[in-house]
Amino acid sequence: MVPRSSPACQSLDWKQALGQAHRDTDRLLRALGLRRQDIPDLDPDAAEFGILVPQNFAELMRPGDPNDPLLRQVLPLGAEHMPAPGFTLDPVGDAAAEKAPGLLQKYAGRALLMVTGACAVHCRYCFRRHFPYRDLGPTQPRLDSALASLAADRSIQEVILSGGDPLMLDDNQIAALINRLAQVPHLRRLRIHTRLPIVLPARVTEHLAHVLAESRLATVVVIHANHPRELGFAAEQALSRLAAQGARLLNQSVLLRRVNDDVVTLQALSERLLDCRVLPYYIHQLDPVQGAAHFQVSDKCATMLINQLRARTSGYLVPKLVREISGQQSKTQIA
Ligand SMILES: *Cc1c(COP(=O)(O)O)cnc(C)c1O
Ligand code: SF4
Repeated sequence: MVPRSSPACQSLDWKQALGQAHRDTDRLLRALGLRRQDIPDLDPDAAEFGILVPQNFAELMRPGDPNDPLLRQVLPLGAEHMPAPGFTLDPVGDAAAEKAPGLLQKYAGRALLMVTGACAVHCRYCFRRHFPYRDLGPTQPRLDSALASLAADRSIQEVILSGGDPLMLDDNQIAALINRLAQVPHLRRLRIHTRLPIVLPARVTEHLAHVLAESRLATVVVIHANHPRELGFAAEQALSRLAAQGARLLNQSVLLRRVNDDVVTLQALSERLLDCRVLPYYIHQLDPVQGAAHFQVSDKCATMLINQLRARTSGYLVPKLVREISGQQSKTQIA
């Protein structure tokens, strides 16, 4: 029997795992048995938004396949520099929705708190890839002003922790933040938007799951997976630690050309999510952020895919196809 992973590997904590992430395109390609010439449109430097891929995520990619759907999500291509009409730096009007520094409110009853600019992975299609949040940190004055703004608005029942990835904070910072939020009497729900259970499953320790479960706020964790192969054994274990502590688990995906734009993949994704105790929530039409046009799928094709999915599987395995349009009162449902 070959052990599933060596003891040394199991004891790697999440900060060590993050430290060993791929930050160099050539090193990632070598790990996958690929050469630069296998990817004609490669942009090896990607200076503005550098490559970042944890090793355990890279291990889920198919070696030797330059078109691997996981690799495509993280590999910088020359196409990112092509100007595309309508693709802008702040496609969803985040800058205009700031109530306090790092606190966005677009929709009734819920506000989004950006607690860090850091992520454990750099997704090339990220709609915040140009947002000036890199210097956002959970600094005391910033949090104080966000908390004061939340406490002053009794219409807000739910706080969404976002970023960047909020689970990049350590357990003590998260516990302290949740504790402060729980002291605001009109808050009832805490939502966490995170990709770390997928790209850095070691982050989801028993202790973290406990910290999230402990507060009086109902906790919803919305993960982000786009392809069934992203949900490996380690991610499944991470998600079951969260579910075991009572967190409700939902997934949002982005519909991405040559990553998940076929019905077989979408069905397998939904089914794999359910195996991992997660319900599909949204599938987003790409936000038109500069540098991501090569991932775009037309509305017509997207609608057709969702209709095909609906004809093949249980209703609760069909995510809502939505787009974010600045100035609307909610995400706009397309199908
Ligand atoms: C998407 C988003 C939300 C959450 O919307 P739901 O439809 O409740 O998932 C909240 N605030 C902002 C700023 C958002 O962009
Ligand atoms: S995990 Fe989310 S916020 Fe981070 S780079 Fe990917 S899409 Fe952007």
